[in-house]
Amino acid sequence: VIAARGLSKRMGGMPVLDGIDLVVRRGEVVVIVGPSGSGKSTLLRALNWLDPPDSGRVEIEGRDIAFRSSRSGRPVPRRAAEIDRQRQRIGMVFQRFNLFPHMTACDNVAVGLRRLRGTKMQAARARALDLLARFGLQDKAAAFPHELSGGQRQRVAIARALAMDPIALLFDEPTSALDPETVKEVLDAMEDLARTGTTMIVVTHELGFARRVADRIVVMEQGRIVAEASPRSDRRKGDEAAAAPGAAAIA
Ligand code: ATP
Ligand code: MG
Repeated sequence: VIAARGLSKRMGGMPVLDGIDLVVRRGEVVVIVGPSGSGKSTLLRALNWLDPPDSGRVEIEGRDIAFRSSRSGRPVPRRAAEIDRQRQRIGMVFQRFNLFPHMTACDNVAVGLRRLRGTKMQAARARALDLLARFGLQDKAAAFPHELSGGQRQRVAIARALAMDPIALLFDEPTSALDPETVKEVLDAMEDLARTGTTMIVVTHELGFARRVADRIVVMEQGRIVAEASPRSDRRKGDEAAAAPGAAAIA
């Protein structure tokens, strides 16, 4: 579904991404771990071209997100509006500041459909209420973000990302700003998503979640993928990753 090839990026003279190759297949859950500063967030932002790499390509369902080939075969940058359209096919959930503070939970979930898809108010609201209910938030539809707990806010953020029917969801440390008691409700919601076949790339320090839910765990260090493992060998989809160096250490 998503393929990154040779992503490299330097910031302040230092390599932040250093030749990242990553292919994520449909329904796969990939967890990315690694020390602070290893480039995890930069990678996620490069994958949907929010923060384009200096070199390398990203394909979404086989289509290059940022370049098309000219008649001579040379890559030509796509227009910004076109990149935006591709970007909308990937949902993102960040550590915090996911929601519009002046909108209710329902409107936060519905706003993308309304503004980007032109969905009618009533249909967008109905879809938003469905999604909120899926995450146990049916009675919070009229609440504003400041009236919600951190865990509830993150579940609204997940519902919002799902509203656009993305082909994949990217999570950047979705629980690391939460109180310990609300971490579980967000991880449970993510686990539920994984079980229903959502393609997910998750940066997290929650190793229990990673072991339980990930098809693959990818370890980053200094802008490189230095190890890969398939923790759930019973439900593994491909064997190659288990043979990778470092697999035993993680799994
Ligand atoms: P963390 O676990 O702390 O979130 P990370 O793995 O997500 O870390 P990134 O945020 O991707 O790491 O940062 C990778 C590197 O890029 C770091 O060395 C960081 O200092 C550097 N960096 C990030 N943003 C900038 C910036 N705007 N300007 C210069 N350097 C930056
Ligand atoms: Mg980060």
